[in-house]
Amino acid sequence: MKPGDILSYLEMCQEEGASLQRGMNFRLRPTHSVVLMSLRAGAPYDDSLQESGRVLIYEGHDIPTLKGGPDPKSVDQPLKSANGKPTENGKFWSTAKAAESGTEPERVRVYEKIKAGIWAYNGTFALLSAWTEPSKGRQVVKFRMELSENEGIPVAATGPLKHERMIPSRVKQAVWKRDQGRCVLCGDTKNLHFDHEIPFAKGGSSLVAENVRLLCAKHNLAKRDKIE
Ligand SMILES: [Zn+2]
Repeated sequence: MKPGDILSYLEMCQEEGASLQRGMNFRLRPTHSVVLMSLRAGAPYDDSLQESGRVLIYEGHDIPTLKGGPDPKSVDQPLKSANGKPTENGKFWSTAKAAESGTEPERVRVYEKIKAGIWAYNGTFALLSAWTEPSKGRQVVKFRMELSENEGIPVAATGPLKHERMIPSRVKQAVWKRDQGRCVLCGDTKNLHFDHEIPFAKGGSSLVAENVRLLCAKHNLAKRDKIE
């Protein structure tokens, strides 16, 4: 799996070997945690991608909705639940604080919602820090994560250019809509990938929908072979 790969909800669950029922999944596998994010209008949390997608500021999650309970959006995001055990916020928090003190950061796989049932893999990020901040009359938790690996290779080893390949969310959403969720060459709806029509290495831009298209795995590979 590489950043830009597109997965259905089921494919994403298969990839992670788990039924993903919530956005924050601490240490889902021995090797990594998983978060789901969304930058779509009306998304429940205020996540943001910065520096061409290299930095993710991820918002913690609310208390669960309980019958007769308060509006979750009016309550501080908790680090502990009522029984005193850490929430997912709390688990990510402890690890982020350990990373701030120099411990090896948690690896976090990030998936971004493109539309209902359709997700893009954004890469593996390192969880580096956590803090709380006021938001609309309450305190929310924020986590800073930085892209740490690209196709399994540490970003530090691939040089500064590689992460500029990241395609912004608005471009991904526009391309998905324009290409109607199909490979533009054969119409396949499976194993899709966001492809740079003019390769990034040859000066093609990630920033405009005109240079990005949907290709199936077969056509994506065929194109790579031609270039290389
Ligand atoms: Zn195809």
